[in-house]
Amino acid sequence: MGSNNNCFFCGSSKCTIRETVSKNYECKYCGTYILPTGPMAISKTPEIENDGNKFKIACVLNERRLKGLGGIALSDMTNKENKVCGYPQISAADILDEFPKKANDFLNRTLLNLSRLVSRPFAEIKLSISSNEKGNLSLFAVDTGEFIAFIKELEAQDLIRNSSFAGIKMCFTLTSKSWEMIDNLKNSAIDSKQAFVAMWFDKSMDSYYEEGIKKAVEEAGYIPRRIDSKDFNGKICDEIIAEIKRSKFLISDFTEQRGGVYFEAGYAMGQGKPVVFAVKSSDIDNLHFDTRQYNHITYDSPEDLRNKLYNRICATIV
Ligand SMILES: [Zn+2]
Repeated sequence: MGSNNNCFFCGSSKCTIRETVSKNYECKYCGTYILPTGPMAISKTPEIENDGNKFKIACVLNERRLKGLGGIALSDMTNKENKVCGYPQISAADILDEFPKKANDFLNRTLLNLSRLVSRPFAEIKLSISSNEKGNLSLFAVDTGEFIAFIKELEAQDLIRNSSFAGIKMCFTLTSKSWEMIDNLKNSAIDSKQAFVAMWFDKSMDSYYEEGIKKAVEEAGYIPRRIDSKDFNGKICDEIIAEIKRSKFLISDFTEQRGGVYFEAGYAMGQGKPVVFAVKSSDIDNLHFDTRQYNHITYDSPEDLRNKLYNRICATIV
């Protein structure tokens, strides 16, 4: 690894780099990311210079790309509100922390990665491995040896079929058993700590999210998940559905009557998930007739929303 024209993390040459006030990478595998230069630079820290860590970060970035998430700016600390060149800042430590830790995580997240590589269930998956082809990242495998061992294990467990190595390419298909596991993984939220937040994405709502919803959810011991379409390259609807399935409950703020919020609340209720309804006091008369009977939290300030929401979560979500 390490030539100046290659991806900083995975080392592939299938990467274009533009250097402006920072270094912008567009890697076939790691997707779009920015490394700040100058005083903000993090690329000299031991955390990033370590080859083992580079591999782990490449795996997590590859997974984010497969999920359809947009680019990020790697920094020393996570600070999504202070964007660099339009990208949210995420710390290298947070990215490293996302690397799977248990054998089961490797297996589950690999299956999810593989499912994202095909548009039809039984289409052939082809993964190439070389210094420029980084198919191993989708399996969180550090090298060819680990990659092949994992493929053999998946085949032994009847999760993939017909694996064959042709040159640098490994070809195989996912089995029905595998797809069943993938569907279950997408549906599992029993022990989820995630709360999905559906609301109007507008600057005027930022303080209500940051000071109100986010704090209330975190104080109650959950992790808020909000999907802004601007952070996505595509497949937003698929990802929203998947994230709702993964969440324990939903917070729906109906301020400004966004169609998406009604859709997401209805979907979550259909899935049997608790939905907490909220709306700004000034907007309560505009609620749709069909959902007006639900007990909405009404609020006048972010602080008000934070207190009421915290209480409601503690009272109704077990
Ligand atoms: Zn890369």
